[in-house]
Amino acid sequence: MAERIECAVIGAGVVGLAIARKLAMEGREVVVLEAEKAFGTHTSARNSEVIHAGIYYATGSLKARLCVAGRRLLYRYCEQHDIGHRRIGKLIVASDDTQIPGLEQYKAQAQTNGVSDLKWLDGRAVRELEPEVRSVAGVLSPSTGVVDSHGLMLAYLGDAEQHGASLALESPVIAGAVESDGVRLDVGGAEPMSLKCQTVINSAGLNAQAVARSLAGVPPDTIPPSFYAIGHYYTLTGKAPFRRLIYPVARQDWLGVHVTLDLGGQVKFGPDFSWIERIDYRFDQSREAAFYEAIRFYYPGLRDGALQPGYTGIRPRITGPGGPAQDFVIQGKEEHGIDGLVNLYGIESPGLTSSLAIADHVANLLRP
Ligand SMILES: Cc1cc2nc3c(=O)[nH]c(=O)nc-3n(C[C@H](O)[C@H](O)[C@H](O)COP(=O)(O)OP(=O)(O)OC[C@H]3O[C@@H](n4cnc5c(N)ncnc54)[C@H](O)[C@@H]3O)c2cc1C
Repeated sequence: MAERIECAVIGAGVVGLAIARKLAMEGREVVVLEAEKAFGTHTSARNSEVIHAGIYYATGSLKARLCVAGRRLLYRYCEQHDIGHRRIGKLIVASDDTQIPGLEQYKAQAQTNGVSDLKWLDGRAVRELEPEVRSVAGVLSPSTGVVDSHGLMLAYLGDAEQHGASLALESPVIAGAVESDGVRLDVGGAEPMSLKCQTVINSAGLNAQAVARSLAGVPPDTIPPSFYAIGHYYTLTGKAPFRRLIYPVARQDWLGVHVTLDLGGQVKFGPDFSWIERIDYRFDQSREAAFYEAIRFYYPGLRDGALQPGYTGIRPRITGPGGPAQDFVIQGKEEHGIDGLVNLYGIESPGLTSSLAIADHVANLLRP
């Protein structure tokens, strides 16, 4: 006999935890099912920890809307809950004149997305702010920042638990089915069990498509394909040469090898972008030469030997090589026809920034 629960959230990353928090605070009984031994060990622990302003995303896309709304909610949440964060600002820089149209496009797109605080800088003004950066022009985004993602997840979990939610670790969802009175989830691990849930949120990140496919009754044609794109980060030894985040003009669908500073002042460069077949976080050291080359376009003072291998993260993609830019895909009953089920696919960047707004969006999809 399956145990009955009101609401299961599959996946304890930053998005799953934000959703669990929201639903628990609305008075629902929530259990978060997490496959690993700890929460937040996948994409939510392997990213740039940037609070994005919302500059790049296509007009009207979920990414554009949820990033701008989520960024405002996130700053307020961090202030109220004393989560480590800094609004340190970001400079997007053009290394030569051919990149200036790219910068102009960012400024226009940002305006369309409701991000109206970008400031145009000529090469001299960039040098005054960041003397180590070589550029002919730049755009300053004052509302970009950084956040302690682990502290954030801990706070989301704390709020959820205070409102009665529980987190079940080492509890992978291995199968399930849509039934007449809810969704059955079969949970593996040391204590296998079946749960009959009124509501299921599939927030399994890189595994979201596999989880959806394992639930009999979810129309297969509503499940997007799954691709993985790995990104490597190198750290810089020594004192930080920058005070802000520095981004080159992006190439195609990723933001280029950029500079982030964590709250401890450590400089990281990355992530790069390459397609991989399966989830494998191994660091490929052969990337080094390409990193030096990409970074020296805007930071010619980078010394040989200054880069150290850092870590990798994997983007959950729903479009593959050569495919169009992707948006978040968040499906409720209207898309798949199943009461009480929400599937989240392709929650790559800016998912961390957007987490509170994604949670609001999911709660709205569940309203009758
Ligand atoms: C390289 C990189 C850089 C990024 N930088 C930024 C940034 O600077 N700013 C920003 O806003 N966003 C950024 N992002 C995006 C952001 O990190 C993600 O959008 C966010 O972490 C996704 O959270 P999640 O909860 O959906 O996924 P995850 O953190 O991956 O969590 C999913 C969870 O589901 C669990 N799970 C999987 N399968 C099962 C199962 N069958 N049963 C139970 N549990 C399961 C996993 O163990 C995992 O804990 C970046 C992403 C990448 C890859």
